[in-house]
Amino acid sequence: SSTQACLENDISGTDNKGFKGHDMLAPFTAGWQSTDVDPLIIEKSEGSHVYDMQGRKYLDTLAGLWCTALGGNEPRLVDAATKQLNTLPFYHSFWNRTTKPSLDLAKELLDMFTAKKMAKAFFTNSGSEANDTQVKLVWYYNNALGRPNKKKFIARAKAYHGSTLISASLTGLPALHQNFDLPAPFVLHTDCPHYWRYHLPGETEEEFSTRLAKNLEDLILKEGPETIAAFIAEPVMGAGGVIPPPATYFDKIQLVVKKYDILFIADEVICAFGRLGTMFGSDMYNIKPDLVSLAKALSSAYMPIGAVLVSPEVSDVIHSQSNKLGTFSHGFTYSGHPVACAVALEAVKIYKERNMVERVNRISPKFQEGLKAFSDSPIIGEIRGIGLILATEFVNNKSPNDPFPPEWGVGAYFGAQCQKNGMLVRVAGDTIMMSPPFVVTPEELDELISIYGKALRETEKRVAELKSQ
Ligand code: PMP
Repeated sequence: SSTQACLENDISGTDNKGFKGHDMLAPFTAGWQSTDVDPLIIEKSEGSHVYDMQGRKYLDTLAGLWCTALGGNEPRLVDAATKQLNTLPFYHSFWNRTTKPSLDLAKELLDMFTAKKMAKAFFTNSGSEANDTQVKLVWYYNNALGRPNKKKFIARAKAYHGSTLISASLTGLPALHQNFDLPAPFVLHTDCPHYWRYHLPGETEEEFSTRLAKNLEDLILKEGPETIAAFIAEPVMGAGGVIPPPATYFDKIQLVVKKYDILFIADEVICAFGRLGTMFGSDMYNIKPDLVSLAKALSSAYMPIGAVLVSPEVSDVIHSQSNKLGTFSHGFTYSGHPVACAVALEAVKIYKERNMVERVNRISPKFQEGLKAFSDSPIIGEIRGIGLILATEFVNNKSPNDPFPPEWGVGAYFGAQCQKNGMLVRVAGDTIMMSPPFVVTPEELDELISIYGKALRETEKRVAELKSQ
């Protein structure tokens, strides 16, 4: 059940005396947990570490929620925010009024994204809002072109695109649909491109990709290509389990999408700014998107901000047809918030100045190889990842088709061992995810690998005990 999933996903603190029964309805937390179990309260951050209220220090291997790319105390981001707050804490961007930081950031992002030429940037406060905006842009575009029936979206099983009504519909995780009457009827889901889990016996990665592209084409033909507006994909799937695409996957998918005049939306919310070892995920997999979603590392999470990049083909239609359709009546009070834009502008400047892509490429082999060395553990099915993102999946007998009984809580046990040893990881069922800050040091990676190893040995022991009972 989704409640069970939430329980498995959450490792809470244990002894924050006096905070039991707090007043917050916590996101992605089982309902009773916010009143019955003490939360882990994080008070301070420093580099790749965070500290709880008791002063305990944790290596934060998920960089918050895959977002604090520059770590916990980058003074230049604080200065950028302070300077902007002292000059102009707020002005909006409606009705052709705007602010300098938002214009500068738009220009900067359009210059940086080179996988395909982009013409316009639209600002939001989050990744979910960016993906909701994508849907509205695509509908507006097809209305402008006189194609009122071309409105359906295809996303993928296990995708994560957000938790607002429409972005949660695009998300391909049952927990975000159950009990919320989702997905919306115009959203379809095609295969999750997880080779290890879903390939047929004897099927190569290339053959698997061919089959998935064929399945996508079959779905489009079944629905009618004239009804399908856009396909949305994360270059590497994130919250669904860190799933890098199999060889040739995006080449084949893009051919299908193009053939039926379907727009390609790259959800780069996790993959952008160096996470995979390229500035954008689209660069890594030769994706030529029509639309791009950004958030998270855009500001290194120091301020909430997301963005949508729009190709000239799409923005030209919207622009040229606006006489017919009237104002583009979409936006948020805080679209292009000057403080968020000033911080994002500084973050992006730092990524470029410090050559963060090169840094990720320099340190990620230690991260990837150091952890993949544990692959032969009897309780690990797969360790997968690229750059500074990685997942470990625990299964019985090394088989994707033989999960541990959920009530054993193998993933949660591993997560608790990590936490006990001063390290926070993302636990989702029996999948453990990590995406450390880009500034993680080689010494911190040694610490990460050592705690991981310790937690793994404890978990192996625990599983052996449970099996012998
Ligand atoms: N897209 C992707 C790929 C994400 O990982 C996330 C957040 N985990 C979102 C969209 C939604 O972003 P937000 O939580 O900022 O709304």
